[in-house]
Amino acid sequence: MSVVKDTNIPFSRESLEQLLKRRFFYAPSFEIYGGVAGLFDFGPPGCAFQNNVIDVWRKHFILEEDMLEVDTTMLTPYEVFKTSGHVDRFSDWMCKDLKTGEIFRADHLVEEVLESRLKGDKSARGESVKDEEDEDKKKRKKKVKEIKNIKLEDDVVEEYENILAQIDGYSGPQLGELIIKHNITNPATGGALEPPIEFNLMFDTAIGPAGNLKAFLRPETAQGQFLNFNKLLEFNNDKMPFASASIGKSFRNEIAPRAGLLRVREFLMAEIEHFVDPEDKSHPKFDDVKDVKLRFLPKKVQESGSNDLIEMSVGEAVSCGMVDNETLGYFIARIYAFLIKIGCDPNRLRFRQHMSNEMAHYASDCWDAELHTSYGWIECVGCADRSAYDLSVHSARTGEKLVSRKALSEPRTVEEFEIELAKKKFGPKFRKDAATVEKWLLSRTQCELEDFAKKLEEHGRIVARIDGVEGAVELDPELIKIEKVKRTEHVREFTPNVIEPSFGIGRIVYSVFEHQYWARKDDAERGVLSLPPLVAPTKVLLVPLSNSSELQPIVKKVSSVLRKEKIPFKIDDSSASIGKRYARNDELGTPFGITIDFESAKDDSVTLRERDSTKQVRGSISEVVEAIKEITYSGVDWTKGTASLKPFNS
Ligand code: AMP
Repeated sequence: MSVVKDTNIPFSRESLEQLLKRRFFYAPSFEIYGGVAGLFDFGPPGCAFQNNVIDVWRKHFILEEDMLEVDTTMLTPYEVFKTSGHVDRFSDWMCKDLKTGEIFRADHLVEEVLESRLKGDKSARGESVKDEEDEDKKKRKKKVKEIKNIKLEDDVVEEYENILAQIDGYSGPQLGELIIKHNITNPATGGALEPPIEFNLMFDTAIGPAGNLKAFLRPETAQGQFLNFNKLLEFNNDKMPFASASIGKSFRNEIAPRAGLLRVREFLMAEIEHFVDPEDKSHPKFDDVKDVKLRFLPKKVQESGSNDLIEMSVGEAVSCGMVDNETLGYFIARIYAFLIKIGCDPNRLRFRQHMSNEMAHYASDCWDAELHTSYGWIECVGCADRSAYDLSVHSARTGEKLVSRKALSEPRTVEEFEIELAKKKFGPKFRKDAATVEKWLLSRTQCELEDFAKKLEEHGRIVARIDGVEGAVELDPELIKIEKVKRTEHVREFTPNVIEPSFGIGRIVYSVFEHQYWARKDDAERGVLSLPPLVAPTKVLLVPLSNSSELQPIVKKVSSVLRKEKIPFKIDDSSASIGKRYARNDELGTPFGITIDFESAKDDSVTLRERDSTKQVRGSISEVVEAIKEITYSGVDWTKGTASLKPFNS
């Protein structure tokens, strides 16, 4: 359905947020207790909308690609996240005001202060300043003792713009340097800040009454999928490539939750792990998407300090090497199609590549689908090639092979490091730790074995720290031998690589609200949420013209047809005027209205109203319901869907 937004009213985030709260799409959790930052409850229309988005997601990805859905636990033992690297690295940098103890997320603080200085500079130069800040920022800035309308030197402006273009790529110490170099202080008080320190974002807990099994609430669903890899591969009859998928809650103890649903502490994620042969990342359906034109922001452009978008087809992006491989390109195009289907504005969507210093060390390429909102560009879907990292580390830690096998058309010779243990000497030397040391040695990667071989040759020993063994463990050539050996292989065994599209549903849902909210011409009070019929919480509002008992049988009749067709609807038989009743439902995003009048009682005809254009047509109950079905579930547009119905002017 093409959206006709006849408006002269500028977008107002305040009005949208009031509407979302008033109509209980969502609201702060525990509000009567004062609320907790970053936690929200969804009300009836919010739940229905989110469920519809998830339903489309399931059909668009899981059904379309035959993905294997799993539902894994949120409570996860410490060991799993120690192995995955989350315990050591899943953190943000924060800095504290030395005096007040106030805490800031370091990268956001640098970003805000430099942005506000640039804005001050623009005002001083007499340029127009577009106000795109969030409420929190505005409130804080009211107190800012910082620069206002101060003209900066040209080279300073350039330097700030350069820093901002790369803000996602700085390490903690680098942020610390920026804070000192650019004299960044607590914006409210001007107070000095401590150097940034790392803050782990996982919520920890303990399982069981004794509390000795340390655990975390998962910050992503991915690990649960990796740990089930062998079962999934077997379920898939050992065929590769294949993908698993999971929809569920994740938890992150954000330093500064803000901007409504955009940065919260508990949120719904939908994640796909596509397992692929590292030697063949082509995708069988790549041809279907290769001509889709997208707007890219590659790392090279950002690293040069610019944000200019490059428009090209996914096919070109892969063939010129900008996007690493076909499978990654395929998913980028599919993510785009999904976001458009549920109501994102294509003109406010871009794909931003992670810069080299921003990307996880194991990832080979990563693109975020970013949606533009009044809060700026927001990462809503991450799409990363995580290489073989996760399966390799879990395999090394547990000793469980997480691999796929492929028969070779011709046998081939491979050279690999092999380790030989003088097991008889392990008992006397390591006593109770002998088995742990043995298991550890046998689960080392090729890179580690190569490194050990070098150390044994150069220093005559290796010294290692092994989990579960007290003190350092020393190994010499009497105990282990590492050699490069040649073998003939008939089957190739490999650790699959993983391409991971990861969706934050709340961020997408909020962005759709912003992209589809508008107010009718000359009337800022008459807000409309032009949600696509497919995902709108309720599809139809049934409005009897009067409360007369004469209309009751036909209301019942239309209701029973809609119920039978499983089309979500609501009846509004309140005494409010028809206009008011429709206006209430425009706010809820209800795309259709069926009006029942005294003619209906005579000939079973009803009027169908379209939310965005307010156009009306008339026909029999069955014709009208058929049109609703076609437009909502088959994606037919209004003109085509109602071609057989008569135009109606009230
Ligand atoms: P990440 O694993 O950090 O790449 O996050 C994956 C997706 O989860 C992002 O693209 C966001 O859509 C979403 N996300 C991450 N953190 C938050 C948060 N604090 N609040 C809401 N959504 C989030």
